[in-house]
Amino acid sequence: MPKRNDREWLENVHPSGWRNPRPADRYGLVVVGAGTAGLVAAHAAAALGAKVALIERALLGGDCLNVGCVPSKAIIRTSRLYAEMRNAEQYGAHTPADIRVEFPAVMEHMRGIRARISRADSVRRLIAAGVDVFFGQARFTGADALTVDGASLRFKKALIATGARPDTPSIPGLVEAGYLTNENVFDLTELPRRLLVIGGGPLGCELAQAFCRFGAQTIIVQSWPLFLPKEERDAAQLLSDAFARDGIEVRLNTTAVNVRVEGGEKLVDLVSDDYKSTVAVDAILTGTGRVPNVDGLNLEAAGVDYDDEAGIRVDDFLRTSNRRIYGAGDVCLEDKYTHTADASARIVVQNALFLGRQRLSALTIPWCTYTDPEIAHVGLYVRQARERGIPVKTFTIPMHDVDRAIADDEETGFVKIHVKEGTDRILGATIVARHAGEMINEITLALVAGIGLRTLARVIHAYPTQAEAIKKAADAYNRTRLTPTIQSLLRRWLRW
Ligand SMILES: Cc1cc2nc3c(=O)[nH]c(=O)nc-3n(C[C@H](O)[C@H](O)[C@H](O)COP(=O)(O)OP(=O)(O)OC[C@H]3O[C@@H](n4cnc5c(N)ncnc54)[C@H](O)[C@@H]3O)c2cc1C
Repeated sequence: MPKRNDREWLENVHPSGWRNPRPADRYGLVVVGAGTAGLVAAHAAAALGAKVALIERALLGGDCLNVGCVPSKAIIRTSRLYAEMRNAEQYGAHTPADIRVEFPAVMEHMRGIRARISRADSVRRLIAAGVDVFFGQARFTGADALTVDGASLRFKKALIATGARPDTPSIPGLVEAGYLTNENVFDLTELPRRLLVIGGGPLGCELAQAFCRFGAQTIIVQSWPLFLPKEERDAAQLLSDAFARDGIEVRLNTTAVNVRVEGGEKLVDLVSDDYKSTVAVDAILTGTGRVPNVDGLNLEAAGVDYDDEAGIRVDDFLRTSNRRIYGAGDVCLEDKYTHTADASARIVVQNALFLGRQRLSALTIPWCTYTDPEIAHVGLYVRQARERGIPVKTFTIPMHDVDRAIADDEETGFVKIHVKEGTDRILGATIVARHAGEMINEITLALVAGIGLRTLARVIHAYPTQAEAIKKAADAYNRTRLTPTIQSLLRRWLRW
């Protein structure tokens, strides 16, 4: 019998005893998959007056609400609290030497948060918006029709928003030994004493740090020389250092090659260059990539092209090879984020229902890995600018030069803004800071609105805030405008 929080959550996202409605003759839009992309598209299309059906085979809210952003951010917050408590003596607090973590209570707290946020994704809200909700696996039967739970639905337009699932690394013995992914790690009620995290991408990094802070002896292995391979090297290095400070055993350039179970523990063979070792752990968590959900949809019947690894093929207008059918979110996009799923769904509603010409390539997409410190990025990396032949000038402000970061004891990190050399045009930015995810939004706004560093330098930032680092970078740009000629003119003027 689920506890109260889980009862509320499940009642919102897949009510017990649910009966699908009788389908309409034809829908203006049928949406397959009720994750972020599907929910956003269904609500928006219904609000604009379209007859909409939404099909979900599992839980409304998809990965983000149920097994992704929401539960992970909830436990990350709690784990930060524990890290701060362990450090509380520095602030004059008397704390016990051994702070006990009540792990089941941590997870129950997370469930309470998930239940609360699930109200926004609930079946009740969809019905109130006029959306016909169907639970079951969708399967196309033709270019303009599909079936769900024995019912046949015809559509003018359809959206495939079936998301992605965790990839299973092909390590001999892993499946037999049992392992965790984002799909079951949030069901844990007992903290693994020793945890091996395979994969140093955002998911592996965030959860490794959280579980370590709950008290699990944590090892993270990553086959690359640094974490977060997409990020700039100095950003990833700061994260490696932070992990080491947390007590995470970091194994870079290391691959897990075999797993076996002996005496109740999981023995994992690791290879780093030509050095071999074996670690004994109680649980293994994998975070080695995502695979798009294209199976079981019978896409051939609908004439929709796809690839098992890249997912549904879409053009810049998010159209598939069937002009009636569109794609959005993780099932077709390289940038697998909730905000991209949301933004792409909005493009589909405009393009599919209103002959819009909105382009995916016009989006400016920031992202953030919610470790401590957070690592956020938007726009071009230096290497990408160079590949395009754009000369780059970078302005970097270390967080230890920012008063609020010093006051908060959150000095690790930097704000780095890249501009086109000789101009104030922002090309991209990386922020490593406790609140990098909040701070990157200012740069994203500047990029979208075409605001340069000269204007950012005129924006008064409340003192003391960590976002002042952005103003300081803009001030640093302004100082480069003081050429020797201008400086000498200024000096003469002031003397006069
Ligand atoms: C641990 C973790 C943490 C994350 N943290 C963040 C974060 O902090 N910030 C961020 O921006 N992103 C984060 N993400 C990524 C984010 O969760 C996804 O990008 C987002 O959920 C994608 O939304 P979507 O609608 O494309 O797909 P999903 O959310 O995957 O939804 C797809 C839905 O389609 C359903 N479905 C699939 N096939 C069928 C079918 N044949 N018929 C009917 N229904 C079907 C599925 O059941 C699912 O509910 C995280 C992901 C994970 C795993």
